[in-house]
Amino acid sequence: MKSCKNILVAVDTSNEAKQVLAAAIELSLCLDAKLSLIHVVEPVVTESSYDLINTVPLEMDDFLVKHAKDFLANLKQDLATDADVSSCVEVGSVKAEILRHARENKADLIVVGSHGRQGLAILLGSTANALLHGAPCDVYVVRIKDTVVS
Ligand code: AMP
Repeated sequence: MKSCKNILVAVDTSNEAKQVLAAAIELSLCLDAKLSLIHVVEPVVTESSYDLINTVPLEMDDFLVKHAKDFLANLKQDLATDADVSSCVEVGSVKAEILRHARENKADLIVVGSHGRQGLAILLGSTANALLHGAPCDVYVVRIKDTVVS
């Protein structure tokens, strides 16, 4: 593999995010690479015909951003990693924001889970699939293992 010093890890806020970050940490240790964690909040859209004032979705976005920041902080803590992992939360289209971040920060590799919210019913989740087609660098897809919910 060509020099890989800058790894971007994209996680949703599901239980499976831990599997994705754990795999990325292992990779970063093997490659001695820097890790950046990203989660994208999709903006809350309302029907303009309902004539709702804009502050409702904006406040909802703020709430989701705060929730995502807490989630990322807990995720890093749960994995008790010594690795220096920076994290950011963006608002926008999931695919577009991950690709923008990868380009702007010159990521050498994007790490993503095979599945997220849609579960294991399909071969490859829509985000992983979209990133494979648009990424400016290699994409490492972590196969999400089925987790038993008790
Ligand atoms: P999905 O497309 O929902 O099946 O998700 C597949 C993978 O894409 C997840 O395991 C994450 O690695 C990544 N992903 C999904 N949604 C987001 C998001 N909002 N922000 C960052 N990464 C995401």
